[in-house]
Amino acid sequence: MPFLHGHLVDHLTQQPLAAKVHVLDEGGRPAFPAEAIRKVGTGLSGFYADGEFLVEVPSGLTTVLVERGTEYEPYERSICVGVGAPTDAMIHLRRWTNLPDLGWYPGNTHIHYDEHEDRPDDRLRLDPRVHDLHVTVVSILQRQALPYAVNRYPVGLLTDFSSAHHIVDCGGETRHNRAPWEIGYGHVLFLRIAEQVLPISRGVLVSGTDPDYPPLCYACDEARRQGGVTIWCHNGAGMEAPVAAALGKLDAFNLFDPYWMWPEEYTIWYHLLNCGIQLPASTGSDWYICSNNRVYVQTGDTFASSGQLGGTCFQWSGRWLSGIPLWQYVRRVADSVGSTRRWLASSARLWQPAGFILSTHFCSHQPGLAQCRLPA
Ligand SMILES: [Zn+2]
Repeated sequence: MPFLHGHLVDHLTQQPLAAKVHVLDEGGRPAFPAEAIRKVGTGLSGFYADGEFLVEVPSGLTTVLVERGTEYEPYERSICVGVGAPTDAMIHLRRWTNLPDLGWYPGNTHIHYDEHEDRPDDRLRLDPRVHDLHVTVVSILQRQALPYAVNRYPVGLLTDFSSAHHIVDCGGETRHNRAPWEIGYGHVLFLRIAEQVLPISRGVLVSGTDPDYPPLCYACDEARRQGGVTIWCHNGAGMEAPVAAALGKLDAFNLFDPYWMWPEEYTIWYHLLNCGIQLPASTGSDWYICSNNRVYVQTGDTFASSGQLGGTCFQWSGRWLSGIPLWQYVRRVADSVGSTRRWLASSARLWQPAGFILSTHFCSHQPGLAQCRLPA
């Protein structure tokens, strides 16, 4: 059978790029290289490619979709694959904006690999590059004895997976459920911790007889004692969320990870803001990366792999609350390859303190979408 050989390069630098690829043969069937890491999660199927891919397809018109994070234009073409030698296709990915050049760095603070993941190292090496993330945080977690693949990693900076351009950190998600799939106290992420905060879970997430103790606030205290960052996740679900926020136990509040409670999570967060609890927003994608969820943070400095997530390279406070930037609301509208095209249709909501003068800048790689409406 014929092959399509795709080469992924940056349009300006001609350097090879990693990206997420979706190939449909002439009959509309998805095709994958045999050894490729597959995209998991909802939305279109796809695979990860590191600079190139070789996929077997019938001869004829083959549709190729390529996506790399949010700052490259999605690529979509029909390519005629012939018989005989593999058909080579140069795929030029065009940057339409460069936010790191402006001091904004993208991160995903909520990722797990489940018990079905059989190549976690390969996936973790590719995830930051395929999705163009400067900060990638995976978290270990516990549901009874399920062997989650992410639990193989030690907490802290994963130096084998980090570089000068991106940091990979392993944190912990400590959780309590009222019933096996019903959140009780809630779920909270700990980043930049030195050792695992115990117990990882409590109650039914451990066993049918495990006590509903200790509360998550105690775990937040332990994470803070280690110098860690505490983020409420799953959109404020959980009876302890407002308590933890009011007691000042939290550093940030994850919104829209992954997509379950839109728009309720914003409502909860705005209620907290209206109570004077100024929690920075963060976000992630939860199980695997199946979307472009990310939070952009303006560090006021260049990105440096200092061995920590905090400090000058990834701030969780500061400018975020002196007017919530539009870029903070990079949220997934449809979790699929090609979702970047719809990303720009997403909304941004601003928290505006009294006396604060709001200025906005809105741009898009799609003509006709560069507009911004602000409520009176
Ligand atoms: Zn989680």
